[in-house]
Amino acid sequence: QKGSDGKYTVTLIEGDGIGPEIAQSVKDIYSAANVPIKWEPVDVTPTLKDGKTVIPDEAIDSVTRNYVALKGPLATPVGKGHVSLNLTLRRTFNLFANVRPCKSIAGYKTPYDNVNTVLIRENTEGEYSGIEHVVVDGVVQSIKLITREASERVLRFAFQYAQDVGKPKVRVVHKATIMKMSDGLFLNLARDIAKEYPNVEFDAEMLDNTCLKMVTDPIPYNDKVLVMPNLYGDILSDLCAGLIGGLGLTPSGNIGDECSIFEAVHGSAPDIAGKGLANPTALLLSSIMMLQHMGLTQNASSIEQAIFKTLAEGKALTGDLGGKAKTHEYADAIISNLKA
Ligand code: ATP
Ligand code: MG
Repeated sequence: QKGSDGKYTVTLIEGDGIGPEIAQSVKDIYSAANVPIKWEPVDVTPTLKDGKTVIPDEAIDSVTRNYVALKGPLATPVGKGHVSLNLTLRRTFNLFANVRPCKSIAGYKTPYDNVNTVLIRENTEGEYSGIEHVVVDGVVQSIKLITREASERVLRFAFQYAQDVGKPKVRVVHKATIMKMSDGLFLNLARDIAKEYPNVEFDAEMLDNTCLKMVTDPIPYNDKVLVMPNLYGDILSDLCAGLIGGLGLTPSGNIGDECSIFEAVHGSAPDIAGKGLANPTALLLSSIMMLQHMGLTQNASSIEQAIFKTLAEGKALTGDLGGKAKTHEYADAIISNLKA
């Protein structure tokens, strides 16, 4: 929403680990580019409410009010009793689709040039439903929940997305030969919804086969939007990230009915946190997806061009891309390219 000063307020969740460092780069670049955005920083450190860990109300109110948030990585504590905050956020705002594009970066050489994949991951259920219990000692059960409602919603989004961005095909990635009922439902619903989009070609592929083909030659995937249940999307999107140069480069958007939260695919990278070594590109490109979502396409493309130019020049790359630059030096190089 645009304020009286002509600026849009956007919630900023800086996050843990490298979060504050990469968020700083985004803030610096945005002010240099005069993007009409006012950041509203919120703390999402969980608090205790009725014996349950929850996200503070102020954070929830901020996202609800602003409709759009940019989010750094939140560390998920391993083990008992902790619910992932990332999951909580997705559930709270019903962010049902996670859009993960992977595009080759000119100047950063990987075994494949011109990769341009888009993966859409169901974001609310599946293997992430969090329903696990001990049956008897030494036997545990974990439930993969697939519902018609959530599946239809993400599938319809995938077809609509393909149409909007001009990708001619939607492919469902599944394992319905083994998960006959759960993936079977997802696949059958996809076949139904495909009929609503006669201009978009539809087919399906088994996950294992997709992995094999993707690392053999990813280019045939460029004309497709891949859509799949939650866990498959988690794994396959890291595979795609590997094709273009790693987690430092891959953005994502969590899309809901009302609110959307944009974030890098990577985690909090505790091993390099606080050292100024992190690559802010993934969060930056997530923010570009956010600008496009908000209709600020002019700002989006000028910053995007400055990022790609800086990467192509290769003079101020961070360590993950084989360079020696600090996070802020890379951000400064982008800022000079903005002005150039
Ligand atoms: P988390 O538990 O929060 O997911 P993690 O230990 O799994 O943290 P990730 O952030 O998922 O770590 O990243 C895996 C590895 O990739 C890290 O060890 C880190 O070195 C590298 N990495 C991730 N993101 C970046 C980045 N933005 N810049 C540079 N290196 C990164
Ligand atoms: Mg991780």
